[in-house]
Amino acid sequence: MGDMALINDNLLKNKPMKLDSQVLSELKEKLLQEKMRIEEEIVRIAKPTKNAVGFDTTFNEIGTDEDENASEVEEYTDNLAMESTLEKQLTDAVEALKKMGTGTYGKCENCGADISVERLGAYPSAKKCLNC
Ligand SMILES: [Zn+2]
Repeated sequence: MGDMALINDNLLKNKPMKLDSQVLSELKEKLLQEKMRIEEEIVRIAKPTKNAVGFDTTFNEIGTDEDENASEVEEYTDNLAMESTLEKQLTDAVEALKKMGTGTYGKCENCGADISVERLGAYPSAKKCLNC
């Protein structure tokens, strides 16, 4: 029995799905795991600076060789892009968890329609329905 056992079970039986408390708790668990995974990933590519609060992307010591510098800058840029993607995913996951607390989870931010449970199962941080 995996995390999504209930959702998979319902999909197999082709039942219309709604966000009952059981489904919600499965999605919450999924989001929490996602959040943890993203946080670990951010720590892996970034390290805390000595003075600053939060994380700063590692910038390896600059060498004197020009080619070496170029590849270090490239790596730094890649890490920054990766870090900002991860931070966005983290924000989305945290927002989704907050919405679960306030009871607004699963509503499209654009049109207010219910986001299908199938979509939430595949992407629990979804903010918009398929039509938007
Ligand atoms: Zn919508």
